[in-house]
Amino acid sequence: MILTERKVPFELMYMQAFSRRVELSSKDARTLSVLESGYEGEVHYDKVLEEIGHESLIVFRDIYVKAGDAVAQFDSIIIDDNTVTVNEIKNYSGFYSYNGGQWFSGKFEVTEDAISQLKRAMGKLKKIRYESKINFDVSGKIIFPNLDLQFDCDDERARSLVVMRNQLKEYLKSFRSSGVSEQSKKIAQVIYRKIIDNPYFDKSADITDLKRGLYCASYGRFDLDIQKYYVYCRRCNCRESKESHIIRAFSDFQALFRREKMTRQKLQEMLGNQISERMLQRMLKRYCETCSTGAATYYKFKYYDYKEAVEKAPQNSLYILGLKHFK
Ligand SMILES: [Zn+2]
Repeated sequence: MILTERKVPFELMYMQAFSRRVELSSKDARTLSVLESGYEGEVHYDKVLEEIGHESLIVFRDIYVKAGDAVAQFDSIIIDDNTVTVNEIKNYSGFYSYNGGQWFSGKFEVTEDAISQLKRAMGKLKKIRYESKINFDVSGKIIFPNLDLQFDCDDERARSLVVMRNQLKEYLKSFRSSGVSEQSKKIAQVIYRKIIDNPYFDKSADITDLKRGLYCASYGRFDLDIQKYYVYCRRCNCRESKESHIIRAFSDFQALFRREKMTRQKLQEMLGNQISERMLQRMLKRYCETCSTGAATYYKFKYYDYKEAVEKAPQNSLYILGLKHFK
């Protein structure tokens, strides 16, 4: 039973939307690629668990939890009867080693310490256990889901904390309670009540840095022929409905300016006024919630991101969704 679904993290959403409208510095490009790779690793892990099935388990994916005064992020928590297991997922690739208490990528020392991170995460759960006065066991593993990882480790104890990709299926199968117990539910409730939104994300783009207008979904080109219902890309010859473009704009705006209020004016600024007021108004009504603070009206995108909007939007509005190549 999955209690919280994994979603694209705020930071990755931000960097993806940002990369569409700004020439990334090499540092930003690296950040984006690390975030993408991390997310891919987590998605692979989820997929393996889906294949095996999780009916008898309670699973939290990608949550921030408040424990005492501190906040901890968990990639995955599995509750199996009376045991709560943390899985810290690291999508490392290439040559990694843990020798003499230090991590190396190739010959270079790595500052990120997956073992301390895992211990810290487990510590937070123990803190929750202490506060809640419910007794449960806490365990944890570091998951290495990348196929292209060669891992070398001279420390037996550290090695025992690691699950490699080829062991992942067996590892996840080893959770074998016969059904979700009352105790599991009780523990899950305690954790659930402590979930908070990601408190660390505070990035916001500067609109003056951004390229304005619509861009094609295939290659991110801005050289478009915008017609009444469809938008044609002059470069890669893709065709996409205007509605789909506008939904992506809502999603991008939310990702780029998460702490700002979305107004029609700001949207139009980002879109270089390429959409008529009438069309934008209609789409705002369909996909956003209208809010107002006295004189000003602003909007909240009803969906987490573009993907969720396309999946969950009312069917009758989807006649023009989708992307096609017309040549
Ligand atoms: Zn294109």
